[in-house]
Amino acid sequence: MITVKKPNEFEKMAIAGATVAVVLRTVKEAAEPGVSTKELDAIAADIIRSRGCTPSFLGYHGFPGHICTSPNSVIVHGIPDRYRLKEGDILSVDAGAIYEGFHGDAAITFGIGEIDPGVRQLLDTTEASLWAGIEQVADGARLGDIGNAVQSEADRRGFGVVREYVGHGIGRQMHEEPQVPNFGKKGTGMKLRTGMAVCIEPMFNLGGAETTVEADGWTVVTADGSISAHFEHTIGITNNGRVVFTKDDLSSGSKAD
Ligand code: MG
Repeated sequence: MITVKKPNEFEKMAIAGATVAVVLRTVKEAAEPGVSTKELDAIAADIIRSRGCTPSFLGYHGFPGHICTSPNSVIVHGIPDRYRLKEGDILSVDAGAIYEGFHGDAAITFGIGEIDPGVRQLLDTTEASLWAGIEQVADGARLGDIGNAVQSEADRRGFGVVREYVGHGIGRQMHEEPQVPNFGKKGTGMKLRTGMAVCIEPMFNLGGAETTVEADGWTVVTADGSISAHFEHTIGITNNGRVVFTKDDLSSGSKAD
C-alpha cells in the first residue's frame, strides 16, 4: 500500500534517517583491513539502540544481522560474519532504523585502503546515479523519471544495472509500495505526491546485470563474479519539498541536495 505521511510522521522518519546516517559514517570509519563484518555489525547495533531506535533489518524475514555487509561481488543482503576486510576490497553497508514506528533506510559502498581505479569509477558513478535519481523526486514527478535518470548514468559507462532488486516506498514499513526501479522511461509510471517517501537504491555491476542468490538464501552476488556497488537514500516529499532523511551532513563527500 502507498502511504501518505503527515508532517509529524516525517519528523520521526528524519530521526530514524539521522541514526542510519551516523551508523553508516561510523561503520565506514571502523572498516579497516583485519576488521570483520561481524564486528561492524556490533558497532551498528550499539549506535541504533543508543539513539532510541530499533534495527529494521534484524529478524526481517529472519535476517540475522543489524546491517547488511556486502563485499566485492556481493550486490546486496550480505550477512555480517567472520570475513575480515582486506586492502583493496570494497564493502557495501546497508542500514535501517525505526524511530517510534517509522523507518529510515540507506546504503553506501566504499573502498578499504587503495582500490582499483576502475572500481573507484564504479563507486563514483553509482553514487552519482543515486543523486541524479533524487533530483527527480518531486510532487507530480513519475517513477519512470527516477529510473531513467539512474539508468542513464550506468549506460554512459557501460555498467550492468541490476533489475531484480529495486527501491521502494517507506514509512511504517521498511518496504512499501511503490517499487522504484533503477531503469525506466521518462514520463511513465506512477505519479509521486506530497506526503510520499521512497528509497532509491541503484546497484551497478562492473560486468553483467545478472544476479544469483547464494545457498544461505540471502547473499545476492553477481552471476559473473564482477564487482558490484550499491548506494541508497530515504527521501520524503514534504510540504516544503524534497528532503533526504538519511543524508550525512558531517561526512566530507556528502553532496548538497
Ligand atoms: Mg532499501
